[in-house]
Amino acid sequence: MWKKWKDLPLWGKILAGMGAGLVWGMLAVIFGWSVFNEHWVKPFGTIFLNMLRLIAVPLIFVSLVKGMASLTDIGKLSRIGLKTLGFFMASTVVAITVGLLIVNIMKPGHAFPDSRRAEMQEKYAVSFDESRSVAEEVRTGGPLDFLVEMVPENILHAASDNRNILQIIFFAIIFGLSVALIPHEKVKVVKDVFDGLNEIILKIVHLVMKFAPVGVFALLGSLVVEFTGDDVAESLDLFASLGLYILATVIGYMVIIFLIYPIVIKFFTPLGYRDFYKSVIPAQMIAFSTSSSAASLPVMMDVSEKGLGVSKTVSSFVLPVGITINMDGTSLYQAVGAVFIAQAFGFELTMAQQLTLVLTATLASIGTPGVPGGAVVMLAIILTSVGLPVEGIAMILALDRPLDMLRTVVNVTGDCAAAAIIARSENELSYPPAEKPAL
Ligand code: ASP
Repeated sequence: MWKKWKDLPLWGKILAGMGAGLVWGMLAVIFGWSVFNEHWVKPFGTIFLNMLRLIAVPLIFVSLVKGMASLTDIGKLSRIGLKTLGFFMASTVVAITVGLLIVNIMKPGHAFPDSRRAEMQEKYAVSFDESRSVAEEVRTGGPLDFLVEMVPENILHAASDNRNILQIIFFAIIFGLSVALIPHEKVKVVKDVFDGLNEIILKIVHLVMKFAPVGVFALLGSLVVEFTGDDVAESLDLFASLGLYILATVIGYMVIIFLIYPIVIKFFTPLGYRDFYKSVIPAQMIAFSTSSSAASLPVMMDVSEKGLGVSKTVSSFVLPVGITINMDGTSLYQAVGAVFIAQAFGFELTMAQQLTLVLTATLASIGTPGVPGGAVVMLAIILTSVGLPVEGIAMILALDRPLDMLRTVVNVTGDCAAAAIIARSENELSYPPAEKPAL
């Protein structure tokens, strides 16, 4: 048995950890072991999550500097940058359009009972108030604030908060570019140091991933316990009244994952969609277990470079930028959520309002942090922009987490697809890659 377990590839172990976590969570709910779970299981999930977050900043910095420093053609960077932004915008708009089509056809809000609406608004008033106040803070800024915010005044300060990823990217790019612009012999030592640091960080990622089966077990087990709480019947009831909304969102995610990405992958890269999914599945599993694109970054880098054969120059730029601004699952979710709320409150959105929704949802997905529940805050901004009652968020808050797990999988898959496509267009994709990924 032990030998069989040892021979299992790491992704198989992670999958087993996820399954065991779900079963454990259900047993804990049935037998009332939630306190035991809280004290003895959950901490391992938190440790795993923290380890992933811990390496995010050094990983982004070191790999970007290494990627930029090896550039021989500086024009290439601006080309990659433009292509990346263009691709991200286009895929976001496609995702929102898919979401709008599905929600307008299925009309899940019309099936939502009025009595439940008032009840849920009351119950989730506190969490909703938090989202609203953060959203208001975001909204009071000027139009160029996002540019100003990208330039840190103190790099140590920027590096002290994982939400400042764009600031770290900015500093890493100017640092790496400067290295590339200085004659090689003057910065050879620096380049060697960064090569060494890169190897060390990759090793840390590999070591952390060995802990992943235990980490995902603890994360998913605790999630089931927290989500179900003490009242299983109530959770089932909640699922039932939001059933059509969940179905609409999940169908949207599936259209993106099983139709849109395979088409673009087939069209723009030499990879088959099976090769693509076989390589990215470890990143998808971590995204599902952590609900955070930022926490999935180390694995995304690994699978893109060593699974898909994307060069370091492309992956070190596209992926960190992607986890911050490219969120196809999130933008689809925001579109479906906004229209669902409109329908449940009896509003019909005009064409102009739906277009405003596309625009704000695109911008909102850029501003959404790659952390669990990031999208909910931005949904408040979208609702206000089309004149819908922000209180509606309370209706979907209760079920946000399972949908968040799925949309994070979509977000992460979209970033890896973008990396492969952009790499291919720059002749920076060599599939099958020479090295094997850690998973
Ligand atoms: N959890 C998502 C992510 O990290 C963001 C969100 O949609 O809430 O990609």
